[in-house]
Amino acid sequence: MAAMTQVSRAIGAADLHPLHPASSESAAAARANGDEKLRFIEEMTSNVDAVQQRVLAEILARNAATEYLANCRLDAATADRDAFRAKVPVVSYDALKPYIQRIVDGDSSPILSSHPVSEFLTSSGTSAGERKLMPTVEDELERRQSLYSLLMPVMNLYVSGLEAKGLYFLFVKSETRTPGGLPARPVLTSYYKSDLFRNRTHDPYHNYTSPTAAILCADAFQSMYAQMLCGLCQRHEVLRVGAVFASGLLRAIRFLQLNWEQLADDIEQGALTPRVTDPSVREAVAAILRRPDPELAAFIRDECCNGDWAGIITRVWPNTKYLDVIVTGAMAQYIPTLKHYSGGLPMACTMYASSECYFGLNLRPLCDPAEVAYTIMPNMGYFEFLPVDSAATGASVAEASASDLVELARVEAGREYELVITTYAGLNRYRVGDVLRVTGFHNAAPQFQFVRRKNVLLSIESDKTDEAELQRAVERAAELLRPHGASVVEYTSQACTRSIPGHYVIYWELLATGGGGGAKLAVDKETLDSCCLEMEEALNTVYRQSRVADGSIGPLEIRVVRPGTFEELMDYAISRGASINQYKAPRCVTFPPIIELLDSRVVSSHFSPALPHWTPTRRSD
Ligand code: AMP
Repeated sequence: MAAMTQVSRAIGAADLHPLHPASSESAAAARANGDEKLRFIEEMTSNVDAVQQRVLAEILARNAATEYLANCRLDAATADRDAFRAKVPVVSYDALKPYIQRIVDGDSSPILSSHPVSEFLTSSGTSAGERKLMPTVEDELERRQSLYSLLMPVMNLYVSGLEAKGLYFLFVKSETRTPGGLPARPVLTSYYKSDLFRNRTHDPYHNYTSPTAAILCADAFQSMYAQMLCGLCQRHEVLRVGAVFASGLLRAIRFLQLNWEQLADDIEQGALTPRVTDPSVREAVAAILRRPDPELAAFIRDECCNGDWAGIITRVWPNTKYLDVIVTGAMAQYIPTLKHYSGGLPMACTMYASSECYFGLNLRPLCDPAEVAYTIMPNMGYFEFLPVDSAATGASVAEASASDLVELARVEAGREYELVITTYAGLNRYRVGDVLRVTGFHNAAPQFQFVRRKNVLLSIESDKTDEAELQRAVERAAELLRPHGASVVEYTSQACTRSIPGHYVIYWELLATGGGGGAKLAVDKETLDSCCLEMEEALNTVYRQSRVADGSIGPLEIRVVRPGTFEELMDYAISRGASINQYKAPRCVTFPPIIELLDSRVVSSHFSPALPHWTPTRRSD
């Protein structure tokens, strides 16, 4: 209890306005259960440097015999931090690719990790258009699980009486096998399919309305349908509504908008639509949809039929205390829409994690999204930080590693850093690509605001499109204009999330290239539609999977703007203080007045007429 009080005091519970006074007996029991976890958080955050030193020693000792560390000429079994810093380079994925490729191809010698690689986690970050593959080892699963186990004890400090159900929209994605025979799949797919998740012990805080069979169903429609139906049937028991990312929850609301009639029919009849064919999902839903419930069906029709979706979450699930979704980073764009649908419920961003490593948690989960700071747990891996100034000056990575990298316990409040990790699974001084800002400390542990993902221009869901990729896609599509005597003189883009699913919008200013300066533009609609699809074909596999398999990104749109628009854009930027010599058209726009200016100059708009190609391929086929 003492530990709990300490955390509560230290994280400023008093100014957080807990949603309910934490006084009931069930709240006391909940807090007692979480007491050990809270004590653990206190211990870890009070001894950051000592824990980090131990973690590095453990990692080096365990992986001492790996080829990678041997190539660094590090006597890892006895190395201290200084030797590690001096000998091990700071790397990005491309430097590890040759090592990873050998593991993919079936080489089971200790290349990066001395523990056998159990599977590959497919990151949403890409390299050469393909998902990055992160080799992982069996015991990482428990490490990830240990971070999950801290979330509810912290939440219980702020919201009492959570011992009922959570409506969480959770999904698995398709997986493949490497030529070496190991599964390659996203980290959450790996977690949901693991025994740890499937055979989780009954615990009131991990009691979901979604049957496990529905979560594990790989068919996106059937999975969502079953999860929504079960959530509706248990609507009074639901105390929190969530998904991993905000985009996932909004897709669920969109799904309700499109499917409420069928859902209401099923509830009225007490029978699941034949569109759900998976036998294990049907069996699991049957255990919840046990009998006809015309009253609930009428309620759903009433709530959904008039097109008024404001506050739909609290209308359908009236006991919801908060939304459990990540709305930091690229997901911040969804905050206004989520507020609209939830009637302003608090949004809890509970954790910060990646395929490479799970990092930490938010000790003030109900704080305003703009103030979210994640406390990196020092037991999860070894963490170093590259000050963003030196990352940006192009100082060589070797230089940066020698002089600039800062340890977790030594980062400074107010500064921005790029995260560099060393993991039990065998990544050594690996640049994750995330930029974080230190906002304060909990005990000795720094707390980080997620600032941005490096080099990401456009993102709707887990897709991350950078400037070079967008440029290539525009170039490829612009080839289709050539026979029509036209070219793209300028372009920019925006991630449009006004409707769900969101989609990429590319603004093109065209120039007639044939027949001298006065030539008239003669590009037909079909060609411009094809340009949209051609751009999609050129984008990375995460984008195309989201379009094809998940339906989480809508068709790409090209908006052709009238000649002179980009000059106006420049005039606008200069009027706001940009230097005329250095001005470059931005490749992505987010500032509303700029978007308004562009939209007011649109002469035609075109959408991708078909889905781009995407199939789950065996790696390195
Ligand atoms: P992946 O490798 O596909 O699992 O994606 C991990 C990345 O997602 C991280 O490196 C971050 O860029 C982003 N991410 C994960 N958690 C958060 C969070 N809580 N807030 C903002 N971005 C996040």
